Amino acid sequence: MIRILEDRVVNRIAAGEVVARPASALKEMLENSLDAGSRDLRVALRAGGRSLIQIVDDGCGMSADDATMCLERHATSKIRAFEDLEEVRTLGFRGEALPSIAAVSRFELTTREHGADAGVRVDVEGGRILSVEAAGAPVGTRISVRSLFFNVPARRKFLRTVPTELGHCLEAVTRVALVHPEIDIEVTHNGKSALRAPRTEARAQRAAHLLGAHGRALVTASFASAGISVEALISPVGVHRSSSRGSSYLYVNGRFVQDPVVRRAVTEAYRGIVPKGRFPVVVLDVQLAPSAVDVNVHPAKTEVRFRNAREVAQVISGGMREALEAHGIQRPPDAGAFVRGTPRHHPAPPNPLPLTRPSALPDPALSAGWTPSPVAVRPARPPEALPRLDSVAAEVGGGASPAPFGALLPVPRFADLRVIGQVARTYILTEGAGELVIIDQHAAHERVTLHRLQSNQHDGGPVGQRLLSPVMVELSAARARALEPRVEMLSLHGLEVTPFGDRTFAVKQVPAVLIGADPTRLISDLADDFIEGGSGRPVEAIRERALATMACHTSIRAGQTLSPYEMRELLRALDQVDFSVCAHGRPVCIRVSGTELERRFHRA
Ligand code: ADP
Ligand code: MG
Repeated sequence: MIRILEDRVVNRIAAGEVVARPASALKEMLENSLDAGSRDLRVALRAGGRSLIQIVDDGCGMSADDATMCLERHATSKIRAFEDLEEVRTLGFRGEALPSIAAVSRFELTTREHGADAGVRVDVEGGRILSVEAAGAPVGTRISVRSLFFNVPARRKFLRTVPTELGHCLEAVTRVALVHPEIDIEVTHNGKSALRAPRTEARAQRAAHLLGAHGRALVTASFASAGISVEALISPVGVHRSSSRGSSYLYVNGRFVQDPVVRRAVTEAYRGIVPKGRFPVVVLDVQLAPSAVDVNVHPAKTEVRFRNAREVAQVISGGMREALEAHGIQRPPDAGAFVRGTPRHHPAPPNPLPLTRPSALPDPALSAGWTPSPVAVRPARPPEALPRLDSVAAEVGGGASPAPFGALLPVPRFADLRVIGQVARTYILTEGAGELVIIDQHAAHERVTLHRLQSNQHDGGPVGQRLLSPVMVELSAARARALEPRVEMLSLHGLEVTPFGDRTFAVKQVPAVLIGADPTRLISDLADDFIEGGSGRPVEAIRERALATMACHTSIRAGQTLSPYEMRELLRALDQVDFSVCAHGRPVCIRVSGTELERRFHRA
């Protein structure tokens, strides 16, 4: 027998699409407050939003009738007919959010319209209206969502820990706050202030306030073409982060979107400027006629479809590139593809190598190996003129694949390899037992550093180097929240960071092997990890990832000239690494066998 589902059941099903976690309920509520013209938002959270999400706005409020009507499915004040979607300028239009949220929580709505004598209060539990009463209230709306998913155990089980959920909630607020500097926002968590964004003039000021040091470094760019106008805050050189999350804030007509067209256009503009695996910080709002973009693609409304995606992409990447150039940012001639990890203009860390480096003793064995043969590549040539090693490696196929453990080297130890020289300031060419062994200097050093960080811990007490004066690092609220509970763990590894006021941390000591690393970047990368790793994961996994991230901050980079001595030191250090334990990550070396060489020179 076929039956029509009851409204309350339908709403609960719809909630699955609109409300995945506290942050998604909060996002919908924030959007409603914006659509209502609010200028002042107070958000109160408890237990990461699991026990309470409350938002108090000073928007237009609702009439007593609307206060119950808004809980009906598909009840909206924002559109009337399907055609209105073409012109929709509000964030909401589906009339789904409030009934969905109310269906899976204990929901309380108090609202008062301009000109009304009194307000009205509606209490709902699991979608069932319990009471509707007159209530004294200021103009505006207050919605409290308690015990989210109390009646959907399957969903509740998927909620992460309080810090993780709180992080998502703060991120949801940040997304709104970045494009609405005119709105005064305060968020408390368990009664304590968690985010404060006072009203300001410009988005740049907001970003500076909310995104810490990264935000302060952003430059303003605006451009327009073909009916598309873009207001952006963009990263100058050297400002980038290890995680894509919380680095690009992309909007279409003021709506935060996760849109591949816009994202790719931004990435394209930064090609060759930002190292691979790093992400520029960008706040970018694309404004175009509502009819040129379909916002009704997904219930959460974070996806859009452009009528002319190609044009949008061209305007964004073209305009951004011009803006970057106007700020004196030169793209190296396709160096990004070659000098992996570091564009040439990126300032090299001004520090000595952490590998022990006694004075330049001539090493007889080494100088023999160092003599450039006629076919040797001279490191002085500009990278773009060098042969593309990556394509060579790809061509030699089987012979160049990362050797599995056990067959890592043709010789017993790295130290047994003879150094031939350095290629493109990125790879070390070596020979052993008639084979060519190519080592990625950055990957290798990262491994060595990781190993040292790991054993730093085992030797009973971490070895750290005190900084002469502590380095202050300011983080976004979400990052600060994620970092705080982990500072103790970091200190066990010689990285001493202490909370210093609201979102600022003082870095007092770094692990000895990381001397010279940029503490600001190190700390914010670690915070990114903690946000992403979530707290649902085992502590060991989080620790391992943090150590790997620290190891990335090792000082030997691609694009750095190494002396023969340094190359030999690196090989010796690699011998300390237990590759059976530490076998993850990028390959450190590739082997090209003698047979492979013979085959390619048609000798075989
Ligand atoms: P939508 O935003 O898609 O219209 P919602 O379910 O989110 O649907 O909200 C339903 C309606 O409730 C809105 O159209 C609006 O009229 C009203 N509403 C919701 N929140 C507020 C608020 N904070 N202030 C004023 N009106 C609100
Ligand atoms: Mg809405």
